[in-house]
Amino acid sequence: MTTHPAGPAGAASLLETLGPGQYLTGVHKDWHAIAPDALEFAATMSNQVLIVPAECGDLVRLAGKHGAYARDQVPVTYRPCPPCAWAVAVATGTVDREIALISPDEAESAALARLGLDPLMSAALCRAVLAAAGDPSDPEVLRQLAAITRHRPGLAVAEECAERSCGHQPCAYPDSRPVCWACSLLSGDEAGEWAGTLMEECTVPAPCGVLHALAVHYKLAAAISR
Ligand SMILES: [Zn+2]
Ligand SMILES: [Zn+2]
Ligand SMILES: [Zn+2]
Repeated sequence: MTTHPAGPAGAASLLETLGPGQYLTGVHKDWHAIAPDALEFAATMSNQVLIVPAECGDLVRLAGKHGAYARDQVPVTYRPCPPCAWAVAVATGTVDREIALISPDEAESAALARLGLDPLMSAALCRAVLAAAGDPSDPEVLRQLAAITRHRPGLAVAEECAERSCGHQPCAYPDSRPVCWACSLLSGDEAGEWAGTLMEECTVPAPCGVLHALAVHYKLAAAISR
């Protein structure tokens, strides 16, 4: 990690370190991708922070110290912005990597399958959207891919399992349930250390209506039926 001066001068020196086809890292709740030419539209705050439009259209803070946007590394992997991730994947020919990154790991796949869900359903839907797309970089195509990322089946697991203090050897997530994290309501800061947990008042089972509508449109409904 190299250090750059703050403000527009820092952004200019940061650009010189970018290779062809690379993006800069931005942050605003999620981690975003910023195209080099978006810096033309940057606004400089009084503290020298640059506010720049990201690939998704949101105005985000240039996270200069993180340099180039690296989709498969921290900090981006903490909370990648789905429309930015797909814009980069399509523009850089890395859709297979993006599909792998949004797919459940081995233990999650096994748990989803046990609960009657096809763990490959989001991957299959992404491929169907891409196969039907004329130009995959069209905004309506990226919007659908981002929706699949957001609404893909998630696994709500017991706290001990999530923290790997459950003692299961190996942990196969017993007592887990399939949920849509995007459709469900999550607790906020008022919940203190429990912020970000599912609210019982509105926990939406996966696959949700958004995933179902896309699956029906792309004639994959059989693959996602419960
Ligand atoms: Zn974004
Ligand atoms: Zn949903
Ligand atoms: Zn466990």
